[in-house]
Amino acid sequence: MTAQVIDGKAFAAKIRGRVAEHVARLKADHGITPGLAVVLVGEDPASSVYVRSKGKQTLEAGMNSYEHKLSADTSEEELLALVRQLNEDPAVHGILVQLPLPRHLNSDLVINSIAPEKDVDGFHISNVGLLGTGQKAMVPCTPLGCLLLLRDLHGSLAGMDAVVIGRSNIVGKPMAQLLLGDSATVTIAHSKTKDLPGVVRRADIVVAAVGRPEMVKGDWIKPGATVIDVGINRTAGPNGKDVLVGDVDYASAAAVAGAITPVPGGVGPMTIACLLANTVTACCRANGLSEPEGLTV
Ligand code: NAP
Repeated sequence: MTAQVIDGKAFAAKIRGRVAEHVARLKADHGITPGLAVVLVGEDPASSVYVRSKGKQTLEAGMNSYEHKLSADTSEEELLALVRQLNEDPAVHGILVQLPLPRHLNSDLVINSIAPEKDVDGFHISNVGLLGTGQKAMVPCTPLGCLLLLRDLHGSLAGMDAVVIGRSNIVGKPMAQLLLGDSATVTIAHSKTKDLPGVVRRADIVVAAVGRPEMVKGDWIKPGATVIDVGINRTAGPNGKDVLVGDVDYASAAAVAGAITPVPGGVGPMTIACLLANTVTACCRANGLSEPEGLTV
């Protein structure tokens, strides 16, 4: 069997298109322009690339983008004061503080100082609690992107066996909550899981969010299963140049799976698309307007 390749790039473009349509309607019918504020502390090269990309895609969707670049030695008080100011600014509907923060700053404190309704990353403890109890939350972007891909492919996930490999707060745990919310039977695996290949082999849906290049092999996959590879790992390619690979050994898994996301071009592009979707959702909620269909759970 050769797996269907799940084209995350094309699906993300579709999501961005839907976001842009909704933004145009908000402007025309209500005179409202959704706004996303992104805060970057320091000059981590990967974070700088992400922030630039987020700003560009926010503007392309017709929204306002507010970038706040602070020096690496910014104090906690200064950063908290900026978040307070953004919380109170009615033109800002979404706030994202780019992680990781420099070591001297307490990430939990900073994230939990964001107004939950503007927390478009979905990392505030209120949103974690709302998601965990099945209430309307701001949902973390990467797992939301994975869920939208799975819903697009399968329609209903009810009764499917899902294994999420990884239990981080930003991917694994919220992914498991989302799958549970869609009535899948969910197992969360991690570094202490016994017989990981055997656990994965039971799954109709495998979500790999581990951070270990090509760890999940084809002979771990149940024939016909859907494989969602969240991993982004930089490794040395055959000609000495860096290449990006996922947490799944793509060649061997694609020979067994029913459907699989490639790296790059699978889950990656969905993350920013879902950030834009969350910003529109936050804007609609703030203004008491109906939310766009199919852009959140
Ligand atoms: P993380 O915080 O490092 O968590 C990794 C998880 O994998 C942990 O729960 C860890 O288990 C588990 N793990 C590590 N080694 C394992 C092993 N040998 N067997 C089973 N489980 C193992 O990573 P993360 O932030 O969730 O990110 C995971 C991957 O997704 C990374 O490659 C990251 O770059 C990528 N990512 C991609 C996007 C995107 O936009 N596509 C967004 C976020 C992250 P323990 O808890 O037991 O240590």
